[in-house]
Amino acid sequence: MSDVRVRFAPSPTGYLHVGGARTALFNWLLARKQGGTFILRIEDTDVERSTQESVDAILQGMEWLGLDWDEGPFYQTDNFPLYKEYVQKLLTEGKAYRCYCSAEELEAKRELAMKEGRKPKYDGSCRNRAEQSEDKPHCVRFRAPQDGGATSFVDLIKGTITFPNDELDDLIIQRSDGTPTYNFCVVIDDVIMKITTVIRGDDHVNNTPRQVQLYQALGFPAPQFAHVPMILGSDKARLSKRHGATSVIAYRDMGFLPEALMNYLVRLGWSHGDDEIFSREEMIEKFDITNVGRSPGVFNPDKLLWLNAHYIKCGDPQRLADLLIPFLKKRGVDPAIGGPQLVEVIKTLQERARTMLEMADSALFYYHAPESYDKAALAKFDTEQLLAVYGAVMEKLAASPATTAAEFDALFKELCTENGWKMPQVGQPVRIALSGGTQAPGIGEIVVTLGKEETIRRIQRAREVVGKR
Ligand code: GLU
Repeated sequence: MSDVRVRFAPSPTGYLHVGGARTALFNWLLARKQGGTFILRIEDTDVERSTQESVDAILQGMEWLGLDWDEGPFYQTDNFPLYKEYVQKLLTEGKAYRCYCSAEELEAKRELAMKEGRKPKYDGSCRNRAEQSEDKPHCVRFRAPQDGGATSFVDLIKGTITFPNDELDDLIIQRSDGTPTYNFCVVIDDVIMKITTVIRGDDHVNNTPRQVQLYQALGFPAPQFAHVPMILGSDKARLSKRHGATSVIAYRDMGFLPEALMNYLVRLGWSHGDDEIFSREEMIEKFDITNVGRSPGVFNPDKLLWLNAHYIKCGDPQRLADLLIPFLKKRGVDPAIGGPQLVEVIKTLQERARTMLEMADSALFYYHAPESYDKAALAKFDTEQLLAVYGAVMEKLAASPATTAAEFDALFKELCTENGWKMPQVGQPVRIALSGGTQAPGIGEIVVTLGKEETIRRIQRAREVVGKR
């Protein structure tokens, strides 16, 4: 095992978002590629907004995607005593100080700064206060360097990023209620967890110089940083619910395969030549964080659908069967109770279905004989013709020893030749009789999967209905 250590550090204030999942994926890939360690850390210091429900949803999303972690989940709330120790250390060393400014005072200062066209920034009133009472309400601020210099870090994706120190004011590291703040906890945790590379969304770029200053003050080396550009919707606004589903689990429920979503996410901002399809192994082999692009990725649902169709088409029918069962049950079908073998059904559908949900819908006719028929499709044929086709097909099927799809297809061809019919004149009416509509797999495949008896029964019934119209 190498000493590469990365972490995914979600705040449990909602479900696992596709953006978060991609950050987790990049971290996971780096760890797997380098033989390193992938750590899951739940950043729950915002006690008001963090919920167990969100933690569960995040874990569920990661498990579904197969993003297995090697250590954790660790919870920041378990580390409060440790953060306090470090706050104390900085206080003792004069690198932090107690600030007694009230929220109202700070707000007034902020408003004044805005009015005067200055950047709202803490004015340092408590920086050199002699009085350091612990009893009076106070927060603790980091004494940020005010030396006119700058703080820089090298970002593996964006290159060197530099912030002038006078833009970085004295950050609150402990709130007046005694709880530590995000920027402080992240630094302490990344140090104690020996994180070597921090991969996260670039909405954190502005936090990084502050964290770098904290590393310096604490005397710890900073890790490497890689800030991944945001994911945008088609209108180039940050991806949000109004662009459609953003939760990983929602994609599962819409019938996406985890490998399709993984493949989609890895290509969102990262590329390897013109390759589009990556198995897990290929992703691991080819991934390089420095090949993540600098511009934001645009979420393209059609491409995701295309990938999903690809993975369904190549999927192992047995595995697809396991995945399909819950979708069928939701539609009132339990393939264990009766009807054709689910694996055989899937083999006839996996060429065309783009999602498992679509596949479930297309599978229903195998388990429920149609109760009605597509009227518009039937109307294209005159009654005499339909009755003749249905009659001939039933007769031919009953007498035939055919057992394979190819043999049944040949049989339908034969029937056409014998009667001077064209294939659609037979195929469409039979499809309608068997499935209720015209959107169904090849006739031979359906007959084999349904079985000859059931096929004849359904055609018989269609013949009766047509005979009465
Ligand atoms: N908890 C932060 C978030 O969910 C991530 C912090 C980090 O990766 O440093 O955005």
